[in-house]
Amino acid sequence: MIQGIGAASGVAIGKAFVLPSWEWDLPESRMDTIDLAKEFERLYEGIRTSRSEIEIIRDEFKEVVGEEESNIFDAHLAILEDPIFMNEIQGIIERQYKAAEVAVKEAIDHFVTMFDLLDDEYMKERALDIKDVGNRLLKHLLGAPEITLPEDTQPYILVAKELSPSQLVHLNPSHVLGIATLVGGKTSHSVIMSRALGIPFVSGLENSLKTPIQTGDMMIIDGDEGHVFIDPNESTIIHYSSRRVKQKKKKEQLELLASVEAVTKDGVQLNLSSNISSVKEMDTALKYGAVGVGLFRTEFIYMNRDTFPSENEQFEVYRHVAESMGNGSVVIRTLDIGGDKHLDYFPLPEEDNPYLGYRAIRISLDRKELFKTQLRAILRSSHYGKVKIMYPMISSVEEVRQANEILREAMKELDERGISYNHDIQVGIMIEVPAAVAIADLLAEESDFFSIGTNDLVQYVLAVDRMNEQIAHMYHPYHPAILRMLRSTVEAARNAGIPVSVCGEMAGDERSIPLWIELGVHELSMSPESLLRIKHRLLNTSAEEDKEVARECLQLRTSTEIEKLLNDYHDAHRSSISIAVD
Ligand code: PEP
Ligand code: MG
Repeated sequence: MIQGIGAASGVAIGKAFVLPSWEWDLPESRMDTIDLAKEFERLYEGIRTSRSEIEIIRDEFKEVVGEEESNIFDAHLAILEDPIFMNEIQGIIERQYKAAEVAVKEAIDHFVTMFDLLDDEYMKERALDIKDVGNRLLKHLLGAPEITLPEDTQPYILVAKELSPSQLVHLNPSHVLGIATLVGGKTSHSVIMSRALGIPFVSGLENSLKTPIQTGDMMIIDGDEGHVFIDPNESTIIHYSSRRVKQKKKKEQLELLASVEAVTKDGVQLNLSSNISSVKEMDTALKYGAVGVGLFRTEFIYMNRDTFPSENEQFEVYRHVAESMGNGSVVIRTLDIGGDKHLDYFPLPEEDNPYLGYRAIRISLDRKELFKTQLRAILRSSHYGKVKIMYPMISSVEEVRQANEILREAMKELDERGISYNHDIQVGIMIEVPAAVAIADLLAEESDFFSIGTNDLVQYVLAVDRMNEQIAHMYHPYHPAILRMLRSTVEAARNAGIPVSVCGEMAGDERSIPLWIELGVHELSMSPESLLRIKHRLLNTSAEEDKEVARECLQLRTSTEIEKLLNDYHDAHRSSISIAVD
């Protein structure tokens, strides 16, 4: 068994499909040549073989995963035909009498270094493509073993070093049984997305994986415990198959609760809303009974395209979401790129600390027209539903004021165009930076609501990168510092008379329910897949008992003690619940 980080719940059993990435060393014996004609012939043969191999991979990938994901391989074919790349290789053979593989390796290094120096994320990604194609060519020149792909088109477990949100955004969930990555933690955006799609995910395998996983290997991943089995024996397969059946049954039973109101046994009610990042997820949110959208991560509609979406394109998406939600409110968060979220067509500067850098509201305030276009689109959608605006990563009163100033300009422009929108639209902020907690009383006077983003708050308060698997064990949402910050944020909001919701991953963790009830949070917004689990827990809880446990937690001094108390309480609770879904 290999221990990773259980990032998205569920069990997956199936064959691995490893996203190819490889590097080759050159043998000392094949450096120079005197037979140029032979080297050119070898080079052309290598190009021909690489081309047909890429075409096969592209077609197989298209069939298994879909058209869009397979486009990457068309880009790879174009590199094989690129005259600049090919001239560089031919020039090295011709002028320096070097063997074809040496020429290819030197050409790759040349272009990769050149693109890397450009300080441009897009070009860096192109450098990766050149490396990938060049390495495939090298593989053929060196006679290295073939990449083995799944012989059939059965759904598979996707294995990769790491996966970016833009790689995941168009993945076909019916083809991917599960995901295992070498790097990454529990709250990366790829993980959040896969949770929303109901795909089990184990990350952070790099340190414990001794032998690389191969495409076609039979494997089991357990996204709850972070366990991975390669070539499991029969009894392990039987054990996990039965767990998977139980999970499915439990899910079906929970679905019966979709239309039931989320209220504790003693009458305390909480709004359970959904976090969404696409129209597709909106359908799941509705299916699982979300009463609203507490966080629409709009950056995902900016991804996997070549240009920024226009005002109209955005408006259509926001309007669709607003109309689908009917009377429920829809909180649309303005663009939150930077950190682990990038747009191919909007290169961000290379930064040592991207999470502390050019991100979220900082970009919006810097790129005013971009921001205003989005605000106009959101405003227009407010005519069709209960739409609210939310600014991400606020750390000062000035930022809220500047953003509101631009919002007023956007309103004025719509007025001039005679377009209807809700002039009293509510505007709130994310509380996810420690500075915002410290001045929550001041910010509350400038905002209509707060939404606590615990994913970022935990990383900033504890100085623990949410993406770094080396320190994932230090990422403690139940740290006393976090509990105190949650308490002071809610108190500031209460004093100012504005509502507070929680939209970080903590909202979807059943163990934290006592805290929300004691603190008096109004709304929990979570991945749609978590909604029914949380509702089930609420329906079976007594708010009075929960409050007592939470009060005890707030007195404890260590994360370990707090987590243990919440775990024990949750376990005791789980065995006494009345709706039989376990
Ligand atoms: C958060 O930081 O908790 C949050 C909800 O925002 P995101 O995960 O998109 O950064
Ligand atoms: Mg955040």
